[in-house]
Amino acid sequence: TEVVHLIAAGEVIDSLAAVVRELVENSIDAGATRITVSLWADQWRVRVADNGAGMDLDTLKQAALPHTTSKIHDRQDLWNIRSLGFRGEALHSLSQLSQLEILSRSATATQGWRLLYNAEGESIQVETAAIAPGTIVTVDHLFGNWSARRQGLPAIAQQIRSVQSMIQQIALSHPHVTWQVQQNDREWFNVWAGETARKILPQILRGVQIGDLQETTLEVPTPEETDSSSSVYVLLGLPDRCHRHRPDWVRVAINGRFVDIPELEQTILGAFRKTLPRERHPVCVVHLQVPPAHIDWNRHPAKAEIYLHHLSHWQLHVTQAIEQTLRLKPE
Ligand code: ADP
Ligand code: MG
Repeated sequence: TEVVHLIAAGEVIDSLAAVVRELVENSIDAGATRITVSLWADQWRVRVADNGAGMDLDTLKQAALPHTTSKIHDRQDLWNIRSLGFRGEALHSLSQLSQLEILSRSATATQGWRLLYNAEGESIQVETAAIAPGTIVTVDHLFGNWSARRQGLPAIAQQIRSVQSMIQQIALSHPHVTWQVQQNDREWFNVWAGETARKILPQILRGVQIGDLQETTLEVPTPEETDSSSSVYVLLGLPDRCHRHRPDWVRVAINGRFVDIPELEQTILGAFRKTLPRERHPVCVVHLQVPPAHIDWNRHPAKAEIYLHHLSHWQLHVTQAIEQTLRLKPE
């Protein structure tokens, strides 16, 4: 079982960027509006600090044990996943693959706690800590005992770029969060919060021509459910200049997470080609909010690929939303 566990851990945590993804998603699930990410790639160290709900001492002691999640209690919950995390694997995997330390203080507590965890996810040191409400998780010496794993990874420079694009993607699907990102104790980049992705995209696509940004949100019916609502959000930029060789820039998020869903990407590109000349290459973000029961996240351990039920229904409404956005005149 030891080996089986480690394979599972390695599937979820396969890089520095994956560490950042898991920690940051926990911060967002905890309601954080401010997240600071610090990276020391040469030391294989990542720290994520947030102003979210924090944890009490009991929760802290449980947090890195196998399959502890505060989010799934019965089978019904599995069909009702609203949070980004739900398997209760990330912190446990991190305790196996690194030195894990968590400082946390819940909003109502008068003091915080600092815990160190062993490779089984048990707390081996507990002390009080004077911190602001929120949580600070530090992952150090990632893959320190797994040198083959380190050697199999891309060069550090490439991993650093992956961390950056991971944070930018998550920022784009959670525009209400302000990000401060540091590398080797120095400021690296920031993303300031906004109402929608429209405020975020220009901050992360610097140097890329994006034109005037238009956005549309359509409330759409949910298949087989009359009392729940779904929505399609489209953010679209159409640079003036035509580029014969520039690729289209299209990203799709579903319920707060960017996913690879080629079927929907084809739909989006198809909607462009119906109206736009070949040389016009839009920049486009599509964000679907659908009832959790319509998504099966279990296609992929990192939740990057999903099954979306009633695909053709969503394809139809995405096409409508794009056509509507293309008709909007720049202000
Ligand atoms: P999951 O996110 O799937 O529930 P994790 O292993 O990522 O599993 O986290 C385990 C639990 O630890 C979470 O369910 C949550 O209760 C708690 N937790 C982790 N990170 C944070 C955080 N930044 N703020 C508050 N609680 C957290
Ligand atoms: Mg999680």
